[in-house]
Amino acid sequence: MRLSILQPQPQRCHHPIKRWPRMDASFHRRKDKVVIIMGATGSGKSRLSIDLATLFPVSEIINSDKMQVYRGLDITTNKIPLTQRRGVPHHLLGDVDPSLPEFSPADFRRRAAHIIDDISSRDCLPIVVGGSNSFVHALLVEDFQPDSNVFHDAERLISSELRYKCCFLWVDIAFPVLSQYLCHRVDDMLQSGMVHELAQFFDPEASRRTGSGLRKAIGVPEFDRFFNMYPPWAGPAGPGEDPLRKRAYEEAVRAIKDNTCELAERQMEKIERLKCAGWDLRRIDATEAFRVVLTSGSSNGSDVWERQVLEPSVKIVRRFLME
Ligand code: ATP
Repeated sequence: MRLSILQPQPQRCHHPIKRWPRMDASFHRRKDKVVIIMGATGSGKSRLSIDLATLFPVSEIINSDKMQVYRGLDITTNKIPLTQRRGVPHHLLGDVDPSLPEFSPADFRRRAAHIIDDISSRDCLPIVVGGSNSFVHALLVEDFQPDSNVFHDAERLISSELRYKCCFLWVDIAFPVLSQYLCHRVDDMLQSGMVHELAQFFDPEASRRTGSGLRKAIGVPEFDRFFNMYPPWAGPAGPGEDPLRKRAYEEAVRAIKDNTCELAERQMEKIERLKCAGWDLRRIDATEAFRVVLTSGSSNGSDVWERQVLEPSVKIVRRFLME
């Protein structure tokens, strides 16, 4: 490893993290330490989480993307593949049965809190990673009200009283660069078999109702329209040769790109609101690393990533763990 400040530890759970002393749970409950990686979709949160978990090998990752909690649609929801997880334990990633009622922020708060308890009780470090700010908000605030979504009401004040000792890393990318990257990412996902995956998931009955849970994932409603015109059981699921079919396919792809960019924009606005509410988000600018990837191919950009994203993140987490 080039970076002298990064000294990978050889074993998992090697150095217990410094924690607040445990007291009578019913009285002054000590606060567990949690690292939270935030950022819009496509901003490199998963990569950063794995890099950090490898460098601080007492860590385990808890997914906070509301579509990735479900089992299925791994390509469409862009779950980090097993081969890229480098042995780091992941929680709430593909764990929830999509046929059950929608997994709510309240469900996430309850399940993730149990997992944090468990990870902390083993003196390991929980790293929460994902783009669903309503999940992150639900998990962290002291006073959570399950019946209202703070992000759906611009007037609602967001509390900054949090029930964990939090270290927030906010991976930010200038929107023009991010949107360009996201369009490339959709093309890569299509190359990796996204349409085949969506074809297997297609259900004509369900496609006529408003989707819930995994059926809301970007890609499902967009391709439902295409599959209703060109059912997947009538032949291969791709664009084909017929010009009308080709146009319908291209419209679905265009809608996915537009909706992904809109999602990223909304996520950035929500993060700004959390920052304005007093959450101590430490902004890491990953624009340059992504620009290098876009201009010179995906294998480059590692040096810039290490210098501009990983190195400052490691410093912040290291200081947090020593506090
Ligand atoms: P809200 O306040 O609306 O609940 P949120 O921050 O909790 O927003 P987001 O993660 O922004 O939730 O997701 C909103 C919508 O964006 C999802 O319902 C889904 O349509 C789409 N979406 C989010 N993540 C993914 C993903 N990984 N794959 C596909 N679609 C996604």
